[in-house]
Amino acid sequence: MLGGTFDANLAAAALARAGVEAVYSYAGRTDAPAAQPLPTRVGGFGGVEGLLAYFAAENITHVIDATHPFAAQISDNAARACDAAGLPLLALVRAPWRAEAGDRWQSVADTKTALAALPSEPARVFLAIGKQNLAAFAAQAQHHYLLRLVDPPAVPPLANCTILIAKGPFDVETDTAMLRHHQITHIVAKNAGGSGARAKLVAARTLGLPVIMIARPPTPLRAQVDSIADMMTWLAHHHALRGV
Ligand code: NAP
Repeated sequence: MLGGTFDANLAAAALARAGVEAVYSYAGRTDAPAAQPLPTRVGGFGGVEGLLAYFAAENITHVIDATHPFAAQISDNAARACDAAGLPLLALVRAPWRAEAGDRWQSVADTKTALAALPSEPARVFLAIGKQNLAAFAAQAQHHYLLRLVDPPAVPPLANCTILIAKGPFDVETDTAMLRHHQITHIVAKNAGGSGARAKLVAARTLGLPVIMIARPPTPLRAQVDSIADMMTWLAHHHALRGV
């Protein structure tokens, strides 16, 4: 199972409970990845060829892609490698967030468009996009950026920023207080879906703040479910009780 997400952690627990022989793969992006009830491995495989070599070396029979919806490269690699090796592949993908009454969302295609959607006058922006792609926002140096990161960065990623170190899941009360305290005027977010990072959107609705929502990148053609129960059903149908 390709992991690195809250949902992957839940899936790992379900696999362990069911006694499925599985290994959890981390990219190695965070300093202290969560402990898992499954054996883990850390680090890139080396592209499609590396994945194919790993599948062969470890006698992998099934692959679950439970990576983040914005982790497009590994998902593409997994689809190509499974296709080449003839292995069944299932993606566990949470449903995207949808705007509700009272939301002030502007949907954009990518980071570049999100940057262009910010106002020209100085704003106070909660840049809730993780640690990748932050550098692009240096081009709009008139804004103050609030960043919430899992690990303290070696150097501040942007000149005019405040960094909070915190790991989800987050709650609405805390996020509302945070947005108020930092006098946030705009939020830039990735449409990750799920409950762990949703609180900021509810808080934004309450405070009437605009949200620039970056849409998900395209995914490869593959079997896909959005719940652990459906993942277990898929595994049962694919006779996966002796290895994933
Ligand atoms: P990415 O751009 O799709 O992948 C870049 C490279 O990182 C891949 O080609 C692969 O290297 C390696 N990699 C990615 N996920 C891996 C995994 N689970 N196990 C082993 N190698 C992996 O990925 P990303 O966006 O940097 O995300 C990296 C990890 O962080 C993923 O596990 C993802 O679930 C998690 N994550 C990402 C985000 C996000 O917003 N992107 C948010 C939360 C968590 P090789 O080509 O060498 O195999």
